[in-house]
Amino acid sequence: MTLWTRQPGSVAEGIHHAVRLRDVTKSYGKGSRAVVALDRVSADIPSGTFTAVMGPSGSGKSTFLHCAAGLDRPTSGEVRLGPTDLSQLKEAPLTRLRRRRMGFVFQAFNLVPALTVVQNITLPLRLERRKADQTWLREIVARVGLTDRLSHVPAELSGGQQQRVAIARALVTRPEVIFADEPTGALDPETAKDILTLLRQAVTDMHQTVVMVTHDPVAAAHADSAVFLAGGRIVTSLDSPTADRVASTMAGLRRAA
Ligand code: ADP
Repeated sequence: MTLWTRQPGSVAEGIHHAVRLRDVTKSYGKGSRAVVALDRVSADIPSGTFTAVMGPSGSGKSTFLHCAAGLDRPTSGEVRLGPTDLSQLKEAPLTRLRRRRMGFVFQAFNLVPALTVVQNITLPLRLERRKADQTWLREIVARVGLTDRLSHVPAELSGGQQQRVAIARALVTRPEVIFADEPTGALDPETAKDILTLLRQAVTDMHQTVVMVTHDPVAAAHADSAVFLAGGRIVTSLDSPTADRVASTMAGLRRAA
């Protein structure tokens, strides 16, 4: 991740940026009770990269993700998805944009219990009355290893399998960015590794863009870069992060706090 460069639009120095935040501030509450969760954060996320967002508890990671994904509106500053300024959109077009142009993977999987695996995967398309591209659907189902589970419901699947469904659902629209919020937080280490490998493959093999909030240095080591928040500000970043370097950076931030 590079810090915000001055060029307008989504193409700077030949790099296409999936998501750009400029001077994004988010505060909650008013007066003496106000909390500044994000403090003038600027960031560019290049397309086709895997970015981990790290930081101590309360540093603003969730707020960063929610603002970047248009789930929450910044108090000030600008968020763009490609060329689109999210602040210009009312709720309904913003919801459509999220459905069409973003994918989401959450810690708690967030599948619809009454729907089968294939119905869950294709839900973002069906909400838009669009048909699935069958070749793409077959490819992502095979990649996440669910070909023989398509008619199962979530309760019949393990946690790891449920998260695979969520990843396939995130991929089905070929979004411009996939936001993952602690995607391995509810999984054992072995299963977590499989899920991180899948997210890595989505970037390396399928040219997707992934932004993942995590507090786990091992998870962050799967990313191309890790950006660190502390007190609502981006304080440092690492390219090609290793778990050891991430852990020592986190330890430094905790000491500083
Ligand atoms: P993290 O994800 O790194 O734990 P958050 O983004 O959840 O951090 O929170 C950043 C700061 O903003 C914290 O001090 C938190 O208490 C505060 N905060 C987050 N959401 C709200 C909210 N809805 N109302 C008030 N304060 C909030």
